[in-house]
Amino acid sequence: MKIEKNYNLSKLNTFGISARAKFFVEIHSEDELQELFVLSEFKNNQKIFLGGGSNILFTEDFNGIIVLNKLKGMEILNEDAESIVIRSMSGENWHDLVVFTVRRGYWGIENLSLIPGTVGAAPMQNIGAYGAELKNVLENVETFDTATGIKRIFSREECKLGYRDSIFKNELKDKYFISAITLKLSKIGEKNTSYKALQEHLEKNKIEVKNPKDISDAVIFIRQSKLPDPKVIGNAGSFFKNVFVKKEQLQKLRADYPDMPYFEEDGVNKIPAGWLIEQCGWKGRRVGNVGVHDKQALVLVNHGGATGTELVKLAKKIIISVKEKFGLELVPEVNLI
Ligand SMILES: Cc1cc2nc3c(=O)[nH]c(=O)nc-3n(C[C@H](O)[C@H](O)[C@H](O)COP(=O)(O)OP(=O)(O)OC[C@H]3O[C@@H](n4cnc5c(N)ncnc54)[C@H](O)[C@@H]3O)c2cc1C
Repeated sequence: MKIEKNYNLSKLNTFGISARAKFFVEIHSEDELQELFVLSEFKNNQKIFLGGGSNILFTEDFNGIIVLNKLKGMEILNEDAESIVIRSMSGENWHDLVVFTVRRGYWGIENLSLIPGTVGAAPMQNIGAYGAELKNVLENVETFDTATGIKRIFSREECKLGYRDSIFKNELKDKYFISAITLKLSKIGEKNTSYKALQEHLEKNKIEVKNPKDISDAVIFIRQSKLPDPKVIGNAGSFFKNVFVKKEQLQKLRADYPDMPYFEEDGVNKIPAGWLIEQCGWKGRRVGNVGVHDKQALVLVNHGGATGTELVKLAKKIIISVKEKFGLELVPEVNLI
C-alpha cells in the first residue's frame, strides 16, 4: 500500500475533471483497509472512497485522502432449486457482476446492465434502470466503520434504500467503507419488461425473452444508442434526479402543461427531470467548456478542459430556470465534492 501525494484524479472520474487530491491510496484487500485506518494520513484527514468515479463531481482540489477501491472477488454462497445467493467484493466492476449472473441464467440484475462503476457504489444510490432497482435483490451490505475499523453488516432494511438514495448517502455519509454486497437472484424466469423503452425495443425487434441475457442484450443496445460514452465525452450519466410531486401539484402542472410526462412508482408521481430541462431550452446548449447533451438533457457534459466549478455553475443555472418556469426544485443525483 503506497500513499501518494498531490495526486491527479482526472483519469479516475468520468467527467474527466482535472482535480488533485492531497493524498491518494489504492486498497486491494480488507487487511490493507485495516492497515490504512490507523495511519495518520487517513485518521487526520477528510476521506472519500472512490470506485469508478462515474457518479462524482470534483468541484475543486480535494484536501484529504482518496481511497480507490480495488477489492476483488465473487462467490456463490448458497443455492436451492429456485434461487441463488451471490456475494461480490465491492471493487468489482458492476457490469462484470451482471455478466457473471446473466451468463449463468440467474434473473434479477439483467435490467441493470452496463451501469458504469463498482459494485460497492451500487447501494450508495440504490442504482436503478429500466424498471429495476438494486433494492429488489439486495440481501445485505458489508462495511467497515472507518473510525473504529469494526465490521458491520447492514440488512437491506437498514440501508434505507430509496429512489437514488440510501443511508450511506445521508446520515452515514463517508462514515462506512462498503466492502462487499450479497444479492439473492432467481433461477426461475421472472422477466421484468414493464419499462416502456425496453418493451418497445423487444416488440419492435420481435425478441421473445427466454433468458436474462435477452433482456441484458436489449438494455445494452438501448443504453449504447441513448447515453453518451464517458470515454468519448466526459459525463456522469443523469446529473439530476427525477422530481417527485404530490397528486394535486401534478394536476395543477398538467393543467398548464398538458404534455408534461409523468410516471407513478410506489404510489408517488415522478416528472422526468430531462423533460423539464429540455422545456427550459437547455438541451444541446454549450456554455464555455461545459454543456447539456444534445440527445439527453439530463446529462451534463465536459466538452474538454472543464473545471468542476464550471459544471456546478451550469447546474445552478439549470436549477434556477426550472424553478422559475415550473416551481420545481431539481436535486443533483451526482455526488458533489
Ligand atoms: C454514462 C453513465 C450512465 C449511468 N447510468 C446510470 C443508471 O442507469 N442508473 C444509475 O443508478 N446510475 C447510473 N449512473 C451513475 C453511476 O454509474 C452509478 O451511480 C454507479 O453506482 C457509481 O459507481 P462508481 O463506482 O463509479 O461510484 P463513484 O462515482 O466512484 O462514487 C459514487 C459515490 O459512492 C461513494 N462510494 C463509492 N464506493 C464506495 C465504497 N466502497 N464505500 C463507501 N462509499 C463508496 C463515493 O464516495 C461517492 O460518494 C451512470 C453514470 C454514467 C457515467
